[in-house]
Amino acid sequence: MRVVTLAGGTGAAKLLRGLAAHVDPRDLTVIGNTGDDTEVWGLHVSPDLDTATYALAGMLDVERGWGLAGETFECLRGMANHGADTWFNLGDRDLATHLTRTRALREGQPLSRATARIAADLGVSVRIIPMSDDPVRTMIRTPAGRLTFQEYFVREKALVDVVGVDYDGAPAAHPAPGVVDAIRGAELVVVCPSNPVTSVGPILAVPGIVDALAATAAPVVAVSPIVGGAAVSGPAAALMRTRGLPVSPLGIARAYAPWLRRLLIDRRDEACAPELARLGVETDVADIIMTSRAHEAALAGRILERR
Ligand code: GDP
Repeated sequence: MRVVTLAGGTGAAKLLRGLAAHVDPRDLTVIGNTGDDTEVWGLHVSPDLDTATYALAGMLDVERGWGLAGETFECLRGMANHGADTWFNLGDRDLATHLTRTRALREGQPLSRATARIAADLGVSVRIIPMSDDPVRTMIRTPAGRLTFQEYFVREKALVDVVGVDYDGAPAAHPAPGVVDAIRGAELVVVCPSNPVTSVGPILAVPGIVDALAATAAPVVAVSPIVGGAAVSGPAAALMRTRGLPVSPLGIARAYAPWLRRLLIDRRDEACAPELARLGVETDVADIIMTSRAHEAALAGRILERR
């Protein structure tokens, strides 16, 4: 079955590992968020693409949810001696990824080609495509000014007030090669449990992607990142409030209307089902907090079975 996923970082990594346990890697496509991309020490870092790649390579640091397992941070300490900013943690082996990507981009290659090459180098045969080769940057508006997503999330630990979110560059961006065809030719589209505002939102902001989601014959199924009125992790709740979205599966359904067919929700949110039905979204009540590999595979299996 040809399965296409829209993916952010940590929540997506778990479901991607689960899907990879069932689907032939050549039939699995990941469309990754690049709104969080940033430059660190002159290197182009694509955190969400790397999280997906490392997860599928079996190399992700599962405890942290980002970076490589068994990583060391000697270079980071060295950079501190040179007075460089060190709030964005880049591991020593992780640097090889960013050096490879940055060199490819400087040679004029598009991000999609660099991403495919890095995945192949790490033995991943799942197709991982950035949402766009054009720069789209998620900017967080705070009362004191605008921050990049990483400044907000990593440096400020998401503790500042947010008054709005912008996707700079999105109106002029094009979907990367293969994105629209993959969605249109899919047999199932899965929106991973990712932040709807800062992980899936930037993907949807690229002109042409929502149209493809609305036009595909494949069912579009999402897993709610919100359980019992709160995000499983991260700042999704605060960011949804700034968008006027209720912090519940209803807010997720509203963010993904009108192309979302089915939403997997937790038992605690069962009461949302009638309202979801009024929005035209089918509900599947399941155990959606993934706490083990077996759990990831079971949730993915259920999505594939009930498509
Ligand atoms: P980020 O770049 O780390 O913010 O990556 P994501 O966009 O993937 O954000 C994590 C989102 O996934 C948060 O909104 C969490 O609530 C959600 N999440 C994390 N783990 C799980 C899980 O096991 N199950 C579900 N349903 N959601 C999860």
